[in-house]
Amino acid sequence: MQDFTFHRAESVADAVAKLRARPEGKLLGGGQSLIPVMKLGLAAPTDVVSLAGLAELRGVRVEGKELVIGAATTHADVADSAEVRGAIPALADLAAHIGDPQVRNRGTLGGSLAHNDPAADYPAAVLALGATIVTDRRRIPADAWFQGLFATALEPDEVIVAVRFPIPEKAAYAKLPHPASKFALVGVMVAKGPAGVRVAVTGAGAGVFRAEALERALAARFAPDALAGSAVPADGLTSDPFGSAEYRAHLVGVLARRAVAACGQGGGGP
Ligand SMILES: Cc1cc2nc3c(=O)[nH]c(=O)nc-3n(C[C@H](O)[C@H](O)[C@H](O)COP(=O)(O)OP(=O)(O)OC[C@H]3O[C@@H](n4cnc5c(N)ncnc54)[C@H](O)[C@@H]3O)c2cc1C
Repeated sequence: MQDFTFHRAESVADAVAKLRARPEGKLLGGGQSLIPVMKLGLAAPTDVVSLAGLAELRGVRVEGKELVIGAATTHADVADSAEVRGAIPALADLAAHIGDPQVRNRGTLGGSLAHNDPAADYPAAVLALGATIVTDRRRIPADAWFQGLFATALEPDEVIVAVRFPIPEKAAYAKLPHPASKFALVGVMVAKGPAGVRVAVTGAGAGVFRAEALERALAARFAPDALAGSAVPADGLTSDPFGSAEYRAHLVGVLARRAVAACGQGGGGP
């Protein structure tokens, strides 16, 4: 790994200023994706600006009809939060099944969304729930955030501050985890909320995507067997040693039905 200079941000504005002064620098959340990427030599920032000390970026609160989670809130804190469990139990369960305890105690919501791994769990929740990503300068709807493989709407000097989740009527997440990393071989989040029925799929392609055929079927009738005639085409899905595109397409249907059934039992997952 290339040498780098470590900086501790004093505030969000300070993090932005430090990044602007160091164009080859990177923010550091929990380091659970950036450090492995640096060890592999796939990123070589000259400077790393840590957000870890910023209390303003951590925590969970309910504001009216929205659940607001600070970007530096760890997966473990989301999983353990009574506010999250009360408002969107599926989100607490999703966080509880990310990686292992070490990853959950260091990794953060903002880091996961900025990294946008095609098999990450949070992107499915953010897209299905129609969440809004709040940065130091703007609010970005989930539909505009995810832009393909490891790509997002984030600017190089922009800091994610929080994510605002509309509280759904019901939601559930179902995933088949990779047996070693626990990343989603396929994960499906189903939500019925203010924006209607939304179904988001992670792990199956180059990035998280909405399954519109499944959404239409569930909008007509919200029940597992309503998905019987709907499918996601295998064309363009990921084929790798862990599963073919056809297998992943099949899993999308199976997991979507499981998620809808879990919605009927009060939500949850995976
Ligand atoms: C063994 C292992 C297993 C894992 N299993 C899973 C799993 O099952 N499911 C899953 O979803 N994930 C999994 N992960 C990934 C994990 O969830 C990471 O925590 C997450 O992807 C990145 O969060 P982080 O806070 O560690 O970010 P970092 O690694 O610190 O940063 C990642 C990227 O985000 C940027 N960044 C960080 N914070 C911000 C911010 N506030 N604003 C703007 N940019 C920011 C950084 O500059 C960097 O580009 C696993 C990781 C490991 C190592």
